[in-house]
Amino acid sequence: MYHAQSGLLAEYEAPISQLVLPTAAAIEDAINTFIEIRGLESARTGCAGCGTVFRTANLTVYPLGHPRLRYLKHGIDFIAKWNSMSPVGREAHHAVTLGDVVYAVAPALINGDLTGHFCDKCLMESPRAHSRFLDFDYGIPWQGVRDKPFSKLNRLALMRTITYMIHVKLFGSNNR
Ligand SMILES: [Zn+2]
Repeated sequence: MYHAQSGLLAEYEAPISQLVLPTAAAIEDAINTFIEIRGLESARTGCAGCGTVFRTANLTVYPLGHPRLRYLKHGIDFIAKWNSMSPVGREAHHAVTLGDVVYAVAPALINGDLTGHFCDKCLMESPRAHSRFLDFDYGIPWQGVRDKPFSKLNRLALMRTITYMIHVKLFGSNNR
C-alpha cells in the first residue's frame, strides 16, 4: 500500500482511508521504469580508454588510428620510454601500438580488428573529473612526483602503490 497524495508527513497524519493499493499496471510500470533507468538488462562493455564499464549503447566503436582517438595517443616522451622497455615493463601499462603510435588503451578491451568501445569523455582533449589510462596507469608516476628530481628510492617511497592480497587456505590431511 502506498499513500495516494503523500507529502512527507501525510503518511503519518492522514487517515488510513486515504491509503490505496496500487494497480497491477502501476506496479508493472514502476518495475519497467526501474529496469529502464538502472539498465539491469542492458549489455555492458568497458571503455578501452579508461576501463570504466558503461552500457554498450552509450559507447562508440572506433578503430585505432581514427581521428577521434587523437587525444588517447601518448606523446614522444612516453614513446621514447616505451621503446626502451622490456616486454615485462610494457605489461605495466595499458597501451597498444599501431605503427609508430602508442595508444593509451587497455589491450584486453581492443578487439582483434583493432577496434574498441570508447566513452565520450575519453575522446575529449582535457576531460574534467575523468581518469584515463593516458594520465593514470600503473606504470605512469603520480603527477606529484613525476617531474621532480627524486632518486628512484625516493620515488618508490612517495609514489602510489598497488597492494595485492593473497588468501592462503591451508588444509590438513583430514581436510580441516
Ligand atoms: Zn572512457
